[in-house]
Amino acid sequence: MKKVLIANRGEIALRIIRAARELGIKTVVAHSTADEKSLPVLLADEAICIGPPPSGQSYLNIPNILSAAIVTGADAIHPGYGFLAENATFAEMCREHGITFIGPTPENMKALGDKATARKVAREAGVPTVPGTDELSSVEEAKRAAQEIGYPVILKASAGGGGRGMRVVHTEEELERAVLQAQEEARAAFGNPAVYLEKYIEEPKHIEIQVLGDGERVVHLWERDCSIQRRHQKLLEEAPSLLPEETRRAIAEAARRLAEHVGYVSAGTMEFLVDKEGNFYFIEMNTRIQVEHPVTEMITGIDLVQAQFRIAQGEKLWLKQEEIQVRGHAIEVRVNAEDPEKGFRPSIGKVETLLFPGGPGVRVDSHLYTGYQIPPHYDSLIAKIIVWAPTREEAIRRMERALSETVIEGPGLKTTIPFHQKVLQNAFFRRGAVYTNFVARRMEM
Ligand code: ADP
Repeated sequence: MKKVLIANRGEIALRIIRAARELGIKTVVAHSTADEKSLPVLLADEAICIGPPPSGQSYLNIPNILSAAIVTGADAIHPGYGFLAENATFAEMCREHGITFIGPTPENMKALGDKATARKVAREAGVPTVPGTDELSSVEEAKRAAQEIGYPVILKASAGGGGRGMRVVHTEEELERAVLQAQEEARAAFGNPAVYLEKYIEEPKHIEIQVLGDGERVVHLWERDCSIQRRHQKLLEEAPSLLPEETRRAIAEAARRLAEHVGYVSAGTMEFLVDKEGNFYFIEMNTRIQVEHPVTEMITGIDLVQAQFRIAQGEKLWLKQEEIQVRGHAIEVRVNAEDPEKGFRPSIGKVETLLFPGGPGVRVDSHLYTGYQIPPHYDSLIAKIIVWAPTREEAIRRMERALSETVIEGPGLKTTIPFHQKVLQNAFFRRGAVYTNFVARRMEM
């Protein structure tokens, strides 16, 4: 592999450039006109425009992206996360054009990318899933199933993602309308109306397992706790979790087994919910690198993006499971250009003053620079601040210190840093009493 085309933007495009450069691989950033002056475009060896700002015409435009790879002589494409990262057709087309797709195989994506299918595959592999149905064929079927598993239930779009397309239903009276609405929403948002139903688990922890596979063998890199969420979207992640050792091992091993069952290639994440009794249930797999991957890198010392490159070049897994040891504790906060005082509404602008934290155990992944105008067309993530320390308590204090140093200012620009500071001060959070309803219940929002 000599040259990689990065079909993404923002901090993850920069993260991929950094990984490639250290491996001696040249980089081309494919960008929309809105990102012409972005940091990844400025730092890559080459850049090529693939269309106007709307992502449908640029970052999701398969013909333009493949042409860009061919024109620039790139022999590989890294899709990052979001956009085309989990699109099996795109991975297949890369293969047809002799371009290495840095990620799982199209077959892996088909087996695990769609949530309803992934549930079936998990059951085949002996991994517990949340009690629920396959894709619903009628409202009657939904009623029967909900009766059996008991309310509340949650309706989910098979093709859903990013915390969208989910709906909690408390009574049978609400169910019919909810199913029809959920199908309609799924059709509009994902082009696929299929929905299924699951038991709604009360106050679970969201625990996910990082895996790396080479098609034959899979290792896990332990877990991340991503329970701090707002509207099913993650805001703060940490590793390791505070679950008992035997639960951690059992979940990690289940994830490893499931990935191995499908011959998984590259980096991926299995997501689980863990209830108060310590029962765990597989909910879905993300067949890509994730936003929160740095916390795992910090506690294991393994560079996940470089691992993706090496696996894509055909290298067999060089890691033995016993060698993957967890050291210390890491926390990541997602700094979004949103105003937490005003319902997290997007609050973008031009960055006039910028100061990122430093010092021991602090890492910042961000594409911001002084003078950068944040474009309004894409997601609001502007920086990830990650800390490492020997213990959770020290990591919390280190993150508080890091956030107190951070300055991201400009006219109209607001960030979620004040929100994160409140989480870090929260007594329940400090005790580790975190679950997915934490923000709604403990943050008075
Ligand atoms: P997405 O792919 O959109 O991120 P997920 O299936 O990963 O959706 O679920 C996202 C979040 O939604 C979970 O972390 C959890 O907070 C909540 N959730 C999902 N399924 C359930 C469930 N069965 N019971 C309770 N909460 C759930």
